[in-house]
Amino acid sequence: MTAFLLDMDGVLYRGDRVIDGAREFMAAIADRPHAFLTNNSSLPPERFQARLHRLGLLPAPAAPLITSALATAEHLQRTHPGFRYFAVGGEGLHAALNAVGEPSDEDADYVIIGEGDGLDYATLTRGGNMLIRGSRLVVTNPDSNVDDGSRVLPGGGALVAPFEVMSGQQALVIGKPEPALYEAGMRALGSTPKNTIMVGDRPDTDIAGAARLGMRTLLVRTGRFGPDAAYPNDLPPPSWDVNDLRDWSLPAA
Ligand SMILES: [Mg+2]
Repeated sequence: MTAFLLDMDGVLYRGDRVIDGAREFMAAIADRPHAFLTNNSSLPPERFQARLHRLGLLPAPAAPLITSALATAEHLQRTHPGFRYFAVGGEGLHAALNAVGEPSDEDADYVIIGEGDGLDYATLTRGGNMLIRGSRLVVTNPDSNVDDGSRVLPGGGALVAPFEVMSGQQALVIGKPEPALYEAGMRALGSTPKNTIMVGDRPDTDIAGAARLGMRTLLVRTGRFGPDAAYPNDLPPPSWDVNDLRDWSLPAA
């Protein structure tokens, strides 16, 4: 059976506004395996689930919701059980890491950067020194910035940059378009790239990363990438390219 990985912002809602066709789409896939994926690492998954619920977008509330913070924690737990970490980011990052790793201010295995509060002179100094001594740098997601309604906030890519410059290390990137977040989504659903469709609003992250893994992809032009934008010719083209979710119908099975 076809499984779906769903980006949320720009696909299902923008701020507090539900995007046209999103509720109907969610109702249509309610009995298909589906999971929500977000590069946003600042908030715990419960906060996103509460928003989806409030907006009437959760007809099947058991669907997994995986943030790049959770995917980071899962990836490190699989590759380095019992890891020690120094984290700089919001509550979603700290909660996800604390569940599987051990915080350390002195000799962390990983210095992990995510979105949200935390970056200042003291945390850059502490993290930068651990990196120079051999800790590995990880960032939850590579986005340069994030829409927050009326303003733009620094994304994971912007926040990790000072640590990269200070230490000379290049961070391991977890979120879209890198594989780890999609793979966490497929593991949660028991699906494979062959039977999974990624639904997203960004060609450079949602679509490109999923296409490289061999998934089918559905681009909806309801986010920052609008109906009139030319599809970048250096990126893999989506399987479907629609103005909004009302223009797409579910393949059989
Ligand atoms: Mg989006």
